[in-house]
Amino acid sequence: MTPRPISHIIEPQYALEGAGVLLRRSIAPRASNEYDPFLLFDHFAFNDPVEGPIRGFPMHPHRGIETVTYMLEGSVNHRDSLGNSGIIGAGDVQWMTSGRGILHEEMPRRSEESGVIYGFQLWVNLPAAQKMSQPRYQEISAATIPSVTIDGATVRVVAGEFNGTRGPVAEIAASPLYLDVMLDPASRFVCPVPRGHTALAYVFEGSGKFSGAEVKSVRMVVFGDGDQIEVESETGVQFMLIAGMPFREPIVPYGPFVMNTVEEIQQTLAELRNGTFIK
Ligand code: MN
Repeated sequence: MTPRPISHIIEPQYALEGAGVLLRRSIAPRASNEYDPFLLFDHFAFNDPVEGPIRGFPMHPHRGIETVTYMLEGSVNHRDSLGNSGIIGAGDVQWMTSGRGILHEEMPRRSEESGVIYGFQLWVNLPAAQKMSQPRYQEISAATIPSVTIDGATVRVVAGEFNGTRGPVAEIAASPLYLDVMLDPASRFVCPVPRGHTALAYVFEGSGKFSGAEVKSVRMVVFGDGDQIEVESETGVQFMLIAGMPFREPIVPYGPFVMNTVEEIQQTLAELRNGTFIK
């Protein structure tokens, strides 16, 4: 089993999105598609009450992608043009497959106990054949996400499989692995990832050795190819391990849409203008 080396490390950049939400962005949609099938990774964690009221993401469209919201603290109130609504609470995951299109609103709320909002949003591409599919949600409540503890590592399995335990998210084109990993001090974590799949670790608390190189939070580690991810930590570390199968198709990102051609983007914008985007 060949350990995967580090390809490079990304320092998240501050970005303002929605109605003035400050967040840390590690990757953003680009035509170069270097993290195929992953398009975007945002981390919202700005919890100082002096920031004043938390603004959110008022009604906006998506087409051609999946958005994955994972909250650790606080919540997100969600509603969409198809009549779906709900609250994504602490420990919950919403895996939203936009397919041909939704319009939705995402409004973060502070935890009533701690006053904190802490969460992540990942965008996963859809293959050309599924970009115009029926929109679909997988709402995963915290209690149904299995947790595995092995050798000082506590792993919540959101999607994919770890140590024989499968996560509840199913039937996603990219065959994703999404693990929330917490390592105790003086512990080690090894996880196989299929060769050829893109693998990322978002290190958001503590520090550890990733493929032998010390990485301090907050950083996104991008792995090169190999069979498995190896992490060890003297002092404890928490990270999201995300992997998936690249589609190797051309992409044209445009704001909240990611399609395969410029014509498909033009078509999307025309549908928004003439009111046929939502069918
Ligand atoms: Mn959205």
